[in-house]
Amino acid sequence: MRIALLARNPDLYSHKRLMEAAVLRGHEIDWVDTMKVYLKMGEVRPEMRYKGAEMPHYDVVIPRIGASITFFGTAVLRQFEVMGVYPLNESVAISRSRDKLRSMQLLSRRGVKLPVTGVANGTRQTEDLIDMMGGPPLVIKLVEGTQGVGVVLGDTMPAVKSMINAFAGLEAHILVQEFIAEAGNEDIRCLVVGEKVVAAMRRKGPEGDFRSNLHRGGSAHKVKITPAERATAVKAAKVMGLNVCGVDMLRSHRGPLVMEVNSSPGLEGIETATGLDIAGKIIEFLEKNARPHRTRTKGH
Ligand code: ADP
Ligand code: GLU
Repeated sequence: MRIALLARNPDLYSHKRLMEAAVLRGHEIDWVDTMKVYLKMGEVRPEMRYKGAEMPHYDVVIPRIGASITFFGTAVLRQFEVMGVYPLNESVAISRSRDKLRSMQLLSRRGVKLPVTGVANGTRQTEDLIDMMGGPPLVIKLVEGTQGVGVVLGDTMPAVKSMINAFAGLEAHILVQEFIAEAGNEDIRCLVVGEKVVAAMRRKGPEGDFRSNLHRGGSAHKVKITPAERATAVKAAKVMGLNVCGVDMLRSHRGPLVMEVNSSPGLEGIETATGLDIAGKIIEFLEKNARPHRTRTKGH
């Protein structure tokens, strides 16, 4: 196969590993800098150019679109899709996964369990919102936050109220979530590739921090997941329409609760914690599934 790795930075661990795995399995792979692609539309034949020349033909595109360039990155990916190139994850599914509220509404509608979550615009009914959530302790999160930034825990009514007011003052979108104390500063990341959980890790927050993000100093360990966790991760990926994703869950008294589904999961933490060749499994998935014009959505 001839593969395009659509990414900004070819030196990231995940991107180096994907290129390595593709070559090892006998494929040709080029790094294409997402932000340097330009597009032509309005005529029958869509065009895509890169560095002053027409984009060469690829069989497969692996999108690694960072959250900050979702808008342009998904436009480029759509152009590949219109031209019949098979995407590892489709543009529609990536856009969907980048909208936390939309994702949670979709998951919950399809029966995937989530922590009880409240969303409001403004601070008019803060107390009622807190009551609706069953009262403190509650976790307050920036809707657009990543890597645990903007995730805080409020233990008491005045603390939760002042945190909500502080975020509101910044005109940030927030959500309020029941605190899953029994998760014990840990979460579970399941790496799903084509309807299978191929690896799982447990992430533990540093002493005194309930957030387990690796970027916040958390540590990762291999974990054996339960059948319910496996089924939940696979279902979440399916509902989102993602072939490859990282599903983050909390272990609660009522079973696994999905926090987030990540369409560009990092490979370093999970490959290191498990010793598994996830990049190889992703390329293997493409070998089995990539066909021209096999995209479900073509961007709509
Ligand atoms: P981000 O998307 O910025 O990583 P998360 O929503 O994943 O933010 O939250 C960061 C971390 O905080 C999680 O990995 C988890 O350890 C912890 N956490 C988040 N929400 C809850 C919750 N409702 N109950 C308990 N712990 C939580
Ligand atoms: N790679 C990060 C993760 O797996 C997030 C990447 C993204 O959202 O684009 O947690």
